[in-house]
Amino acid sequence: MLVKKVEIAQVMPCIADPAKIRVIAKADHRLEEVLPYLDKLIPTALYSERGGFITYKRGLSIITLHVSGEIAMTQIRDSDEAVKILNEIKEKINDTWARRAEIDLSKLKERIQLGPFDLYAYLPKTNCGECGEKTCMAFAIKVLNEGKKLSDCTVLAEDKYRGARDTLVSLLESAGYEV
Ligand code: SF4
Repeated sequence: MLVKKVEIAQVMPCIADPAKIRVIAKADHRLEEVLPYLDKLIPTALYSERGGFITYKRGLSIITLHVSGEIAMTQIRDSDEAVKILNEIKEKINDTWARRAEIDLSKLKERIQLGPFDLYAYLPKTNCGECGEKTCMAFAIKVLNEGKKLSDCTVLAEDKYRGARDTLVSLLESAGYEV
């Protein structure tokens, strides 16, 4: 068993839906060894080796597992749901780790095709203009055309957008962009 315990470290209001919560939890073991295997077994997973995390969607929630053992979850109904999902994640990690000999890491995942709405979904949607574009949608289009870098959106650097930023990095890397 790789992970014996996962504990909730922080609970905050969710940015996307203030009626829900954002949860940061911590596993009692680092996760770098298991992340490449999880990437193969979770069809929707996006893995950033350079960033040291994997991110995937579970319903409306975005779940991000970091090599450090930190687990971030957005759009969670309440702490009961958080505990339930964390138990699921722990089981998934341990099950994947137990089956690692059967998983072929050399098999490449297909590159995903990105459209502007895929990026826009995770941008702050403030249309603040800090990136030099009038709207977040215009920024998404520019990033896809390689006329802007993700780092040009300074708002995304705010800590509250960390989960969204990690997902955007993974999305772009999985589609073959230099981030
Ligand atoms: S800086 Fe970010 S939040 Fe502001 S308009 Fe550009 S993409 Fe949107």
